Amino acid sequence: MLDALQRPLESLRVSVTDRCNLRCAYCMPEEEYHWLPRTHLLSYEEIARLAAAFRDLGVRRLRLTGGEPLLRRNLAGLVELLDFEDLALTTNGVLLAAQARELREAGLHRVTVSLDTLRPDRFRELARRDSLEQVLEGIAAARREFGGLKLDTVVMRGVNEDELAELLAFARSMNAELRFIEYMDVGGATRWSPERVLSRTEILERVGPAEPLPGRGSAPAERFALADGQVFGIVASTTAPFCADCDRARLTADGRLFTCLYATRGTDLRQPLRSGESREQLVERLRTVWGARSDRGAEERTALRRRGSFVSLEELRQNPHLEMHTRGG
Ligand code: SAM
Ligand code: SF4
Ligand code: SF4
Repeated sequence: MLDALQRPLESLRVSVTDRCNLRCAYCMPEEEYHWLPRTHLLSYEEIARLAAAFRDLGVRRLRLTGGEPLLRRNLAGLVELLDFEDLALTTNGVLLAAQARELREAGLHRVTVSLDTLRPDRFRELARRDSLEQVLEGIAAARREFGGLKLDTVVMRGVNEDELAELLAFARSMNAELRFIEYMDVGGATRWSPERVLSRTEILERVGPAEPLPGRGSAPAERFALADGQVFGIVASTTAPFCADCDRARLTADGRLFTCLYATRGTDLRQPLRSGESREQLVERLRTVWGARSDRGAEERTALRRRGSFVSLEELRQNPHLEMHTRGG
């Protein structure tokens, strides 16, 4: 199944909730948000039915995300219903220690935890909650249950740019592969400015000599090895986007399909699902949407001469589907 730019549909990110127990400055800088109505949230059975239709079309990798996915009750119950070659979870880790074992037993393959700092005061400032200790416990639990994990760090100039070496050392001690993520101007990042971005080039300069590793494929991260063999990644969505290889679709918790992180319009799948469409009909619907896809949002953003936040706070208030925490990062 190829889109209009000949890109296959191979991975799906499913947001299971738009709610979150942190307020990261780059994602949810406000305290209050307009949440999706509860009656609109897909049940686990509904998510599983849609996921199966995506699988019929060629999706091999599924990632659960949010908002904070572990806020949704009994997430392991959803994991049990999903059958994919690669089944992963992205979480802020706050609630992971209590759930890691049941998630693995339910069939989850891998976990990525977002970790931007190891300093409690900085964490409090950046995420506006005092939860670093729970996150670290969650990371330790993921290591125990899954043997290792990935860690995602959004690098912001003037915020955590001085912690790259410490984060790498921590990742090594946890058998984790760390990925540095450039600060993106996605919906929700209303405080974004180009000056705040630490680019891929600057990250590499700070980390020290590193060899690029081959075989990236459609993965967002370029991987590198340090002289001591430690492998890390960089996701350079802001300065060196990878839209040409993007094989990812996104499903919101209320059943809307987005074909790009920057897409302003999605396709409602909840209504057809709830009106009883068959799996074949749903597959046809997905085929039509993906076949017409020509998004290359990050590349278009990079080409802009003057660049600020993608969406204003006003627009976000009117259309929460534009928020990164709604469409699933
Ligand atoms: N709450 C979970 C978490 O934080 O891992 C999952 C959802 S969160 C939206 C998914 C990822 O998006 C996180 O790794 C987060 O760091 C990233 N993210 C959110 N806003 C971003 C931004 N403005 N630039 C870069 N990455 C961002
Ligand atoms: Fe932070 Fe993830 Fe919550 Fe966004 S959704 S505020 S990145 S924890
Ligand atoms: Fe894919 Fe859109 Fe991100 Fe480009 S901006 S990599 S097309 S999701």
